[in-house]
Amino acid sequence: MLESDSDRNLLVNFYLYCFRIFIQPRMNTNMANVEKFKIIRTGEDYIQSLRERDLKIYLFGELVKEPVDHPMIRPSINAVAETYDLAVREELASAHSSITGLKVNRFLHIAESAQDLVLQNKMQRKLGQNTGTCFQRCVGMDALNSLHSTTFEIDEKHKTNYHKRFLEFVKMVQKENLVIGGAMTDPKGDRSKGPAEQDDPDLFTRVVAKDDKGIYVSGAKAHQTGCINSHWIILMPTVRLTENDKDWAVVGAIPADAKGVTYIYGRQSCDTRSMEEGTIDDGNAKYGGQEALMILDKVFIPWDKVFMHGEYEFASMLIERFTCYHRRSYVCKTGLGDVLIGAAATVADYNGIPNVSHIKDKLTEMTHLNETIFAAGIASSYLGHKMKSGVYLNDDMLAQVCKHNVTRFPYEISRLAQDIAGGLVVTLPSEKDFRHPVAGPLLKKYLVGRKGVDVENRMRVLRLIENMTLGRNAVGYLTESMHGAGSPQAQRIQIQRQMQIGYKKNLAKKLAGITNDIEKPNEPSGYFNRVFKTKDSVL
Ligand SMILES: Cc1cc2nc3c(=O)[nH]c(=O)nc-3n(C[C@H](O)[C@H](O)[C@H](O)COP(=O)(O)OP(=O)(O)OC[C@H]3O[C@@H](n4cnc5c(N)ncnc54)[C@H](O)[C@@H]3O)c2cc1C
Ligand code: SF4
Repeated sequence: MLESDSDRNLLVNFYLYCFRIFIQPRMNTNMANVEKFKIIRTGEDYIQSLRERDLKIYLFGELVKEPVDHPMIRPSINAVAETYDLAVREELASAHSSITGLKVNRFLHIAESAQDLVLQNKMQRKLGQNTGTCFQRCVGMDALNSLHSTTFEIDEKHKTNYHKRFLEFVKMVQKENLVIGGAMTDPKGDRSKGPAEQDDPDLFTRVVAKDDKGIYVSGAKAHQTGCINSHWIILMPTVRLTENDKDWAVVGAIPADAKGVTYIYGRQSCDTRSMEEGTIDDGNAKYGGQEALMILDKVFIPWDKVFMHGEYEFASMLIERFTCYHRRSYVCKTGLGDVLIGAAATVADYNGIPNVSHIKDKLTEMTHLNETIFAAGIASSYLGHKMKSGVYLNDDMLAQVCKHNVTRFPYEISRLAQDIAGGLVVTLPSEKDFRHPVAGPLLKKYLVGRKGVDVENRMRVLRLIENMTLGRNAVGYLTESMHGAGSPQAQRIQIQRQMQIGYKKNLAKKLAGITNDIEKPNEPSGYFNRVFKTKDSVL
């Protein structure tokens, strides 16, 4: 009998080892190149697992030979590697999965309780603190959790077997400890038109052919976080679909190196600094985010990796559940906020004014804003409820509020950080000048702050503030905060839908003594039902 998770992990690793050494070489399968014989456990294992894949990636008009070694791509790989290393170091990033019976990385875990959702948020804040950037794995985690309930409910209505296929996929990725990317956003063309109404049908990803082995999809996915750093990518629809859009109602998993996939790497502000000598001008030399445009040209998905095919009426359910998880996943930004608040406080200290009242007040305001984001996100998770499939879903109203705060507060926190940092955050000379025999000593003389502070340290922290508010990681801290998981208006629509104005009017009328104008229904439903529920029931 196996006593512990680690015993079970050892046994599974042994079976996988035997499979890869003795059986797999004899099989003619179309498995991804991630099938290396070494089990991925640490960040370093993960980095090795990405090597020698046949990905087609364009960057600066050239094909990238080995993304792992590309100085502009590597920081984003390091950020994902930290999600593995955290799981090795701390319990926070692991969970016990009842699907495989294994201890798995939390990013691959299907939430079995509200506490699991809360722990996702805690892990996200910790990783934000450790990396100061987007660590790229939450889209996949939220896609897995939303597909658990959606595939279950499609099967319930259509007697399909998507849920079973999906569970097999989850077992595989949990056992092999893989990175999953979530591809929802299509290029969308004319935003006033649906998929079937576009001049070019490829502007939304769709099924172009099928046979007895599977389906073939074409189109593109835009702004794909960590796609090149993923082992598998789950394709999902991005808008509510009608019967005319049946071909676009498709969900499936593909290896990141599937035949027919082309990536065009997204530029980030100041990205080429990572190709220069030195580490100061990067601001955060080790970690960065990643987005790319992903183009799909008749990409094959075998039937066992297809989780929706034509059930257009379930597209909105999947999108709403995914965005519900994902909008509270944006507590990741509070980890980045912690770093930026720390950087602002450090600059104030280096400048000799750590105890000035307006500086302390600004740091207090930054903290207040940051914790307001966290409060809504973690409360959304605490209010999580069980779905029919058994997975837990966090509260939708509070998830919307969390993400809506994220579209604003990091901008204000950044403004205050730049206020405290002073103008040098944008006028600082380069590291090359700092190392120059003539310019260097001049900089050391004139960029001095409080007595005893190393000028290089002052430069480093100013560059970090630049990195997070104007440079590479401003992509993750600011614009991703605005648009990732949906632009602000998308949250306002959801808040409006759920704000239960009739119920609130009745509360007011009752206290005002109005008895002949009570609206129906007077009972709490939707959001308030979840707020006031006392039992862990399926809602
Ligand atoms: C850094 C970053 C990382 C991301 N990572 C991922 C990822 O990993 N996976 C993924 O699937 N997606 C990802 N996204 C995509 C993200 O979900 C989209 O950016 C978001 O949904 C907005 O879509 P858009 O960028 O096409 O903007 P647009 O749709 O062009 O929106 C621009 C503006 O137009 C408004 N608008 C658009 N359409 C309409 C309409 N029909 N009616 C009224 N107003 C409209 C919007 O409200 C917004 O104000 C990422 C985005 C960013 C910026
Ligand atoms: S933006 Fe945040 S929630 Fe989204 S993948 Fe990056 S770290 Fe995770």
